[in-house]
Amino acid sequence: MFTKSTEQFDTPNMCNWCPGCGNMGIWTGFKRAAALEGWNNGNTAIVAGIGCHGHIMNFVNLTAFEGLHGRAIPVASGIKLANHKLNVFVFTGDGDCLAEGGNHFMHAARRNQNITVILHDNAIYGLTTGQTSPRSPKGYKSKSTPTGNIEEPLHPLRMALSAGATFLARVYSGDIPRLTEILIRANNHPGFAMIDILQPCVTFNRMYSHAFYQENIYEVGEKYDPTDKELAFAKSLEWGLKKIPVGVLYEVREPTYEEQVPQLASGALVAKPIKKRDISSLYNHYQ
Ligand code: SF4
Repeated sequence: MFTKSTEQFDTPNMCNWCPGCGNMGIWTGFKRAAALEGWNNGNTAIVAGIGCHGHIMNFVNLTAFEGLHGRAIPVASGIKLANHKLNVFVFTGDGDCLAEGGNHFMHAARRNQNITVILHDNAIYGLTTGQTSPRSPKGYKSKSTPTGNIEEPLHPLRMALSAGATFLARVYSGDIPRLTEILIRANNHPGFAMIDILQPCVTFNRMYSHAFYQENIYEVGEKYDPTDKELAFAKSLEWGLKKIPVGVLYEVREPTYEEQVPQLASGALVAKPIKKRDISSLYNHYQ
């Protein structure tokens, strides 16, 4: 049972997600993880993109930055490079991460940057009132595809795995204890960690409801080997009735991007003195 207080993470802002939205579970799980791990303004930064997920910046009392649409990952990468001692979390939606921000997502995974990406995967654009997203299934009818989506959905775990991510997990947002545990494990993993959080949008996505996930997810279990890449690929391909795997699907230790940058070996960049340079001759030259 969770007994710690999460009050220190509350803000004066009223939560404006729809009642029953899966974002509530992510919010609660994150605050619980923060309380358990001692994340605070001195050791943690959170970044979000644009979408319903991004409102979490207003409800968690931690150093936060809400970026442009799809650009949360490059902001987080910059924060991590400036101070690689920080815990850095990216909150992003499936549209934000896989459409507008698809290139950033792929390249951060490839570099094994030591950040944790929390994907609010609701398979729809919720903030703009229900358009088909890169996670919406083929045939899905919405305002933007009234006769049915003709495109195949993207699979974020498979994409991250093939790009080079070293920690991949999936969890249902309503399972707050498991979500809390996985958030902590992902943050403690050195390298690019991604959590695909199955987050029902109760207002606009009637297909992927709380009941749908409760009926169709299954834990990969203790005998599952998360270091087996082929197995992880196989699991990342599974999706459908009674076959949505959840848990830690992949976890291996590889050198992180930050560990390989020589300038970071002697300490965080923010702790180093800045040498002043006279660039007036450059100004004069281009005047
Ligand atoms: Fe949540 Fe969907 Fe409402 Fe956005 S529109 S707050 S994702 S239920």
